[in-house]
Amino acid sequence: MSAFEDSTTAIDGLYAVALKSTIVGTVVVPGDPNYSASRQIFSRQFQDLPQFIVYCEVFDDVRKSLQFARRHNLWAVIRSGGHSTAGYSTNNAMVIDVSGLSYVVVDAAQRQAVVGAGTRFEKIDAALDTFGLHVPGGSCGSVAVAGFMQGGGYGLTSREFGMNCDNVIDATLMLHDGSLVVASADENSDLFWAIRGGTGNNFVFCFRSPISFTSFP
Ligand SMILES: Cc1cc2nc3c(=O)[nH]c(=O)nc-3n(C[C@H](O)[C@H](O)[C@H](O)COP(=O)(O)OP(=O)(O)OC[C@H]3O[C@@H](n4cnc5c(N)ncnc54)[C@H](O)[C@@H]3O)c2cc1C
Repeated sequence: MSAFEDSTTAIDGLYAVALKSTIVGTVVVPGDPNYSASRQIFSRQFQDLPQFIVYCEVFDDVRKSLQFARRHNLWAVIRSGGHSTAGYSTNNAMVIDVSGLSYVVVDAAQRQAVVGAGTRFEKIDAALDTFGLHVPGGSCGSVAVAGFMQGGGYGLTSREFGMNCDNVIDATLMLHDGSLVVASADENSDLFWAIRGGTGNNFVFCFRSPISFTSFP
């Protein structure tokens, strides 16, 4: 997040134990058996070595990770699907991973669904296929919705159905101070504009979005 300047201050790994004890998710640090796999984002050109990788399971895990980052002056970035082509979802300090916030709740009658930030398109597409619904998604099934939508999100069907972000109804967001807000066309409309392709991401933490769908012919 831009609120936390790049920090290469080495933090004692024991602090991970303290953070871990306060969250539902888990924390991976250098030396853990799964560290190498956990730190790697899709584009191999980015080889950062985060001191902490926090796998969040609930919103509050993100808030606690933010507090931890602030306390230790760590630069924190958020990661959903890890497909940033600019390497924005990794650094040498702290990665807050929300791939655990992965769910799709479909309301077929309303042609809407609520999706968690870390949900990958392979899951979204499978859930929607069941109901004959569709939203423009990425060409790669392991791209996640939060990063995709915030970059606009161009899919193979966008010429007909628009960008992915055009289909978002509202979004639940966490601000830098840990507070939650909802952004829609009527509420916090500046933020709503910003998260739909306007920012290059990492501006606020995006958690869940209801999206409206079109019936796929
Ligand atoms: C193989 C491949 C195929 C692609 N295909 C397409 C395509 O067909 N159409 C298209 O439009 N784009 C495509 N992209 C680009 C892709 O949509 C973007 O890179 C997108 O940002 C990836 O989202 P992510 O969540 O997977 O990645 P991440 O790396 O996790 O996130 C990308 C950015 O969003 C930020 N971010 C992630 N989660 C959150 C969150 N919850 N709240 C706030 N900020 C967050 C990250 O910090 C980072 O800055 C493709 C990329 C790759 C590598």
